[in-house]
Amino acid sequence: MSKFLHSKFKSLEPYDTSEELESMNGYIRLNTNESPFMPSPLAIKYAYESAKGLNYYSDPDCRLLAEKLSSMLNIKPSQIVFGNGSDEILNFIFMGLCEKGAAFPDITYSFYKILAKFHGVNYKLIPLKNFRIAPDDYKNLQARTIFIANPNAPTGLALKLDEIEKIIISNPDSLIIIDEAYIDFADSLSAIKFIHEYNNIIITRTFSKSRSLAGGRLGFCVTCEEIANDLRDIKNTITPYNINAMTQAAGLGSLEDDDYYKENINLIRTVRESTKINLRKMGFEVTDSETNFLFTRHERLTGQEIFTHLKQNGIMIRYFESLPEFNRITIGTSEQMQKLLNCLAEIV
Ligand code: PMP
Repeated sequence: MSKFLHSKFKSLEPYDTSEELESMNGYIRLNTNESPFMPSPLAIKYAYESAKGLNYYSDPDCRLLAEKLSSMLNIKPSQIVFGNGSDEILNFIFMGLCEKGAAFPDITYSFYKILAKFHGVNYKLIPLKNFRIAPDDYKNLQARTIFIANPNAPTGLALKLDEIEKIIISNPDSLIIIDEAYIDFADSLSAIKFIHEYNNIIITRTFSKSRSLAGGRLGFCVTCEEIANDLRDIKNTITPYNINAMTQAAGLGSLEDDDYYKENINLIRTVRESTKINLRKMGFEVTDSETNFLFTRHERLTGQEIFTHLKQNGIMIRYFESLPEFNRITIGTSEQMQKLLNCLAEIV
């Protein structure tokens, strides 16, 4: 730590990226919930063509993307705000829309706690019940901003729309964030339709998972115009050109090639279900994930033993120090998952 670092940053707890960096060294990467499939050819073509215009700043409002998305989602373009990944949208929300504190499940996406601490937002953790978010526990939250990942991570389990609505209705003074990073892989439905009924909700989405653009860094949120304007003001104050031109172009190409993604999503869902069945046969407890990953616990082996064995064999999955019995395994191609199963058969 240098003597120049502001004292308020002396106890920073940054997101640990060491394992992700290591997985880039030739491992089968089943640890960061990326798509195993490349972006659509149209996304790549548009990104390539847009590179010729990189001498100009990118469109701060991502207008082409906003128009295309608004017609797909049946909302106004002004109700959409884009982020450098949905993580950036979450950052804007913690920065500007959590004055009364935050509340989120324990366990959930680890970034909520990291951002809350960074922005000095007081937060309340609400324990899961049997791995599930219990809507009845989300009451009397005194106007805290509530973060619900749906489906939740790393459990992979989703709430139904009536359960989400229950949380919205019981918290009229709160802003409710529904993080739908994985909704495209789910049977459960998106809460986007509630945008037309409630003005205290924000739905966040990402192009990183189902649209194979994790490296492009593109996310967005949908909300009422008033909140969208607040978020745009925050964005335009600190990072007006937050989405680079190549990423905007790739995002547009991906939206225009929707069938390509629907096919990939179906493949991932099919491989997820067959992998789940095979893991259960091997003595794993596996939740009924609605995402592109599985949350597993073996009857005899620890999460670390499984992680280490796979790593030694060139496969990287996720192990959480805070959840030592568990692993999170991203769904890759069927060939990759077969390798995973063969390798697991050696130790179980
Ligand atoms: N929400 C959840 C629940 C996630 O798991 C992730 C990915 N780690 C994100 C948001 C952020 O994804 P991105 O910034 O790539 O859009």
